[in-house]
Amino acid sequence: MRHAKIYWRAGKRVNGFTFGGNERMSKQTPFLMLLSALRSALFARVGVAALNLFLFAAFLPLAQAGHSWNGYHWARTANPFTLKLGDNVSPAWDSYLATTSSDWSISAVLDTTIVAGQANPKNCRPTAGKVQVCNSTYGNTGWLGVAQIWASGSHITQGTVKVNDTYFNTATYNTPAWRNLVMCQEVGHTLGLDHQDTNFNNANLGTCMDYTNDPATNQHPNQHDFDELALIYQHLDSTTTVGSAPTSQGQPPAMTDIDLSGPGQWGKLTRSSNGGRGELYELDFGGGHKVFTFVIWADGADRARSQ
Ligand SMILES: [Zn+2]
Ligand SMILES: [Zn+2]
Repeated sequence: MRHAKIYWRAGKRVNGFTFGGNERMSKQTPFLMLLSALRSALFARVGVAALNLFLFAAFLPLAQAGHSWNGYHWARTANPFTLKLGDNVSPAWDSYLATTSSDWSISAVLDTTIVAGQANPKNCRPTAGKVQVCNSTYGNTGWLGVAQIWASGSHITQGTVKVNDTYFNTATYNTPAWRNLVMCQEVGHTLGLDHQDTNFNNANLGTCMDYTNDPATNQHPNQHDFDELALIYQHLDSTTTVGSAPTSQGQPPAMTDIDLSGPGQWGKLTRSSNGGRGELYELDFGGGHKVFTFVIWADGADRARSQ
């Protein structure tokens, strides 16, 4: 009985009931289990909601940074800054470059302005602190457009955009909609933006930063792109890479001299989507000096390539 008393006390102390130990166990268990289940369910709901809130809060910057190019950005000491786009394109592309320039200039943190080109369109060599934009018949390379960024640490030091007339001269891609999308997207990459979506087959998001099989409604940046730019360029830097010499960034001269016309020179493939129709390559020169290559492949060429 001594043991029974201890149980009783234990039962009373814990639950405020006057049932004995074993009796309490047998009679209380269903009730307590129900209470416990209800409480667990309640806590689970509250807990999951709180967790969602926490995850949302915690990962919001990361999720949004997912639309930036890993946070790479032009260094500048004030906003808005003006990025020069070197015009190395033929008359057939001038109106698209002009549209792209004015489209991105809607951003509150930056403006782009078209200046005389300094590159031979065929190799489209970069110029420090600017983006050289080129078109040419680059051949059956497989790619419609390529954007390349030279980075020093987290800062973009120069960029190039190439659009491939070998494909834009074909019936499939020789449309204002395709020209507009690719020009807009590649220049968008040189600002530090990533794609918003890399599925070619889903509904268009209404931004040129969205892969699609039908570019008709993905012609210009959308508000999310501008929001993303505002985030990327929220902080100010103590130095500037806009319009400055690469040597002032400690950039190896070889980074500019290399031929970057094909995947063989783009370095390691760091990301591939949709069967390789959109790819990101990284060429690492050490010391935080990297060249990134964003490429959008032509559909037919990709099929040929994968065979
Ligand atoms: Zn910075
Ligand atoms: Zn792209």
